Amino acid sequence: MVRSGDKEPRTAVVALGGNAISDPDKEDTITNQFAHTRKSLIAVLELIKAGYRLVITHGNGPQVGNALRRVELAYPQVPMVPLGVLVADTEGSMGYMIEQSLQNALHLAGIKREVLTIISQVLVDKNDPSLLNPTKYVGPFFPEGKARELADMYNWIVKDAGKKGWRRVVGSPIPLRIINSSAIRNLVEAGFIVIAAGGGGIPVYLEPDGKLEGVDAVIDKDRASAILGLNIGAEELIILTNVDRVALNYGKPDQLEIDRMTAAEAKRYFAEGHFPPGSMGPKIEAAVKFIEGGGEKVIITHLNNVLEALKGKAGTWIVPLA
Ligand code: ADP
Ligand code: MG
Repeated sequence: MVRSGDKEPRTAVVALGGNAISDPDKEDTITNQFAHTRKSLIAVLELIKAGYRLVITHGNGPQVGNALRRVELAYPQVPMVPLGVLVADTEGSMGYMIEQSLQNALHLAGIKREVLTIISQVLVDKNDPSLLNPTKYVGPFFPEGKARELADMYNWIVKDAGKKGWRRVVGSPIPLRIINSSAIRNLVEAGFIVIAAGGGGIPVYLEPDGKLEGVDAVIDKDRASAILGLNIGAEELIILTNVDRVALNYGKPDQLEIDRMTAAEAKRYFAEGHFPPGSMGPKIEAAVKFIEGGGEKVIITHLNNVLEALKGKAGTWIVPLA
């Protein structure tokens, strides 16, 4: 509730990493996912108590991998399901788990805010280079022969994924726009807590006649979160993961943790190779995109440190100017 004299509440997109929902040390059962989701939502509850209007995004790597596996095992008893539709499935199922867990946490905290999940399509370019030359691994490992057989059967592209075998690869196109972002913006401004663009959202492209068409690919959730933030006019992007701070020379003896940097500095460190493609790279890319697009602040921190990070006492802040 906004009272006269109060500052206008700030809007943040909060991105939950895959590790916020799945515990890598535990089997990925729904019971475990629910338990882990409830724990992760303590951070989100802190943000709500701090007065933020919120959109929550989340990863879906392990979940969509399992969904692909289920589809393959069940075929031909039940028909194939394309990847785009499986992303939609996980947006719904994971959205449900987050939605219910958060609604319960709000209830216990005596906070009257409603939570809802929006299945999001995300516009990409049909000619995105990553669709023409896919490199993002999805789903299970197979022996080479089996992988090639499946590739012939389903028109997949498969690649050698190292010691554990071969895997399917799909494109990970750059998200251009969240299709239903004006609806999301209206809901957020009305005080609803919205879960959107789960798993990065369902990639779609525009046909020449203006119709949307799905494409079998996945969108990086950090990139999608930045675009979502810009599309709804959010002031902040808060990326919650499993390290407290972004570091230079990560994992090396001379590792140096960064508490604050400008987008320009982040770009320079990125170019110097400090942020690998599958993990910190997309977060930094998202941070730069968000700040260059007009966002005020990006915070990257550990799920457990969100309150300290809001005060600038933990985490890494990425800001427009020094
Ligand atoms: P999420 O599921 O939250 O997206 P990721 O595994 O994709 O998590 O990214 C977070 C991981 O990035 C950390 O666990 C850390 O191991 C790794 N990482 C790679 N480079 C860096 C860096 N320069 N600074 C901090 N963490 C880094
Ligand atoms: Mg990640």
